Amino acid sequence: MEVIRDRAAMRHRAGALAAQGTRVGFVPTMGALHAGHLSLVAAARPGCQLVAASIFVNPLQFGPGEDFERYPRDLPRDIEALAGAGCNLVFAPESTDMYPPGARTMVEVGGMQDTLCGASRPGHFRGVATVVAKLLHLVQPAVAVFGQKDAQQAILLRRMVRDLDWPVELRIAPIVRDADGVALSSRNAYLSADERREAQGLWAALAAGRAQLERGERRAGAVGAAMRAVLAAGSRTRIDYVTLADTEQLQPLVTVEGRVLMAVAAWVGRTRLIDNLVLEVSGETVREASLND
Ligand code: AMP
Repeated sequence: MEVIRDRAAMRHRAGALAAQGTRVGFVPTMGALHAGHLSLVAAARPGCQLVAASIFVNPLQFGPGEDFERYPRDLPRDIEALAGAGCNLVFAPESTDMYPPGARTMVEVGGMQDTLCGASRPGHFRGVATVVAKLLHLVQPAVAVFGQKDAQQAILLRRMVRDLDWPVELRIAPIVRDADGVALSSRNAYLSADERREAQGLWAALAAGRAQLERGERRAGAVGAAMRAVLAAGSRTRIDYVTLADTEQLQPLVTVEGRVLMAVAAWVGRTRLIDNLVLEVSGETVREASLND
């Protein structure tokens, strides 16, 4: 496993790979890796001769009072996990190298960064778009893989690469869940045993929303209310949002038809969790869909 710790070396290596015609698949992460992250490594492989991952806890995407300082970090363990998953190269820069003094430029994806998670995390998606823009320049991948787990992030980054004519194929990989339905997340490590049980409420809420649609309900408000009712039953749970939105521009829906993103965010104890389900609703039929096609 090749480990690169600074921007200049990464740029140099990416140039050499490009000169050889090597197609690079790229998986950006913040580390504290779990099976969800490792599934992205597998998703990056088809059509690529080299798979690279980045590990960088990006200070720009954390707001004041968020968990930047206590975010779990274990680089040696992450490198081992990536090697085991078939990753070939890890780029793990320091934040002083990524953001030298005097840096000012930020990337904004207007209209999509202030809704859903952006409403309670001002500046978060500007930080995400900026770091991913930098990483794409440094690594120069042919393919970049993001998880549907962070659906808003994936949709917004897809918008960014399209709008800026980036020559990169963006793949959005399905959510990896534990047996009880809870989506794998580095932040699950913060949960107590009771909170971990209550975290199942997010998946249960999405299942309740789907059940409403399968019963023929098409009013987004009514579907959302059924989902909220499930989350509200959790004594340690505080809802941030429950939204049904379109999967291109993330606009809230009034009537559900076509591809829909059902997204939930809630604090369980002090930990903010997110989850989502993408469905294709066509006439009477409701089926699970992805963000790719
Ligand atoms: P993070 O390290 O949390 O920034 O996540 C890095 C990438 O892994 C993002 O594209 C996430 O969407 C993705 N990811 C996180 N959790 C999961 C999961 N449970 N299943 C699939 N992908 C995930």
